[in-house]
Amino acid sequence: MIMPSCSLLHLAGEDDDRVFEMADYQGPIARWCSGCGDHAVLTAVQRLMADEQLKPETTVFVSGIGCSSRFPHYMKTYGFHGIHGRALPVATGIKLSRPELDVFVVIGDGDCVSIGAGHWIHAIRYNLDMSVLLLDNNIYGLTKMQTSPTTPMGVKSNTHPYGSLLPALNPLQATLGVTNASFVAQTAEWVPAHLFATLKAAHEHRGFAFVRILQRCPHFLPDFYTEAVKKPDHLQILDHPEGIHVDGLDKIYKNQLRHDPADVNRARELAEDMNVFRLGLFFRDESRPRYEDTRRLPKRTAREKMAILNEDLDRYAV
Ligand code: SF4
Repeated sequence: MIMPSCSLLHLAGEDDDRVFEMADYQGPIARWCSGCGDHAVLTAVQRLMADEQLKPETTVFVSGIGCSSRFPHYMKTYGFHGIHGRALPVATGIKLSRPELDVFVVIGDGDCVSIGAGHWIHAIRYNLDMSVLLLDNNIYGLTKMQTSPTTPMGVKSNTHPYGSLLPALNPLQATLGVTNASFVAQTAEWVPAHLFATLKAAHEHRGFAFVRILQRCPHFLPDFYTEAVKKPDHLQILDHPEGIHVDGLDKIYKNQLRHDPADVNRARELAEDMNVFRLGLFFRDESRPRYEDTRRLPKRTAREKMAILNEDLDRYAV
């Protein structure tokens, strides 16, 4: 459902000398659990929007189902809180019909890596210009603690009380394996400077920018990231002049690795190794074709599109 807000009623052609503050993007108070990592991502996204002066009326947040999928409700922009696993097809439709819009997709590990996995693979290949934020908390939180595809082997849940039986699916490795992937990064919600820099790089990328955000779920997996949060050396930062660089981060996070994001084979090697949490830009290639540029459809006005739609409805509706 698209949710227009009064603040979006800005007329095209009006003089636009508006300056947006973070508060201009803030919707109602978020109803996530206290300490949930989703709060940090919401704040970082609102900060990004103010930093980039994105217009609320030309920005859309699309989500599916899950804790993080409540995201569009908390943004004063347009939004679509869709159905489980279908955020990417909805976002694809929006981007193809309104390419001038800034499209953000917020999905969880269930939405993206499980029920929506087929859509995920093809959306990577289509490489439409959008920022895709996978808020990966490694568990199904909304439905109260079932094993998700990214739950590591041995972690106990309501569906696997003796521990998950399979190795976790690796979203970075999978994305990097798909033809036409153009931007793959990983960050963590408890490292705000890196989170912000990653969101900014993703938004600047022209193409399908896939960002996996390691996200704490203190309600169901309270100890899962404790070591990584308390001991900075448990994270390894990928640094490179062409990657995501944050000034001063090396003073706290001393475990750094130089990685050129143009090197897809090295990116795949680094992604495959799940013994360490790596944050940074694994891969970027802006030369990859984008579907909105390569498909050859005539430009049509909204009126012409409505006429075609009505014609089709007349033909097929019973
Ligand atoms: Fe966040 Fe977990 Fe609570 Fe969901 S259940 S809102 S992911 S802390």
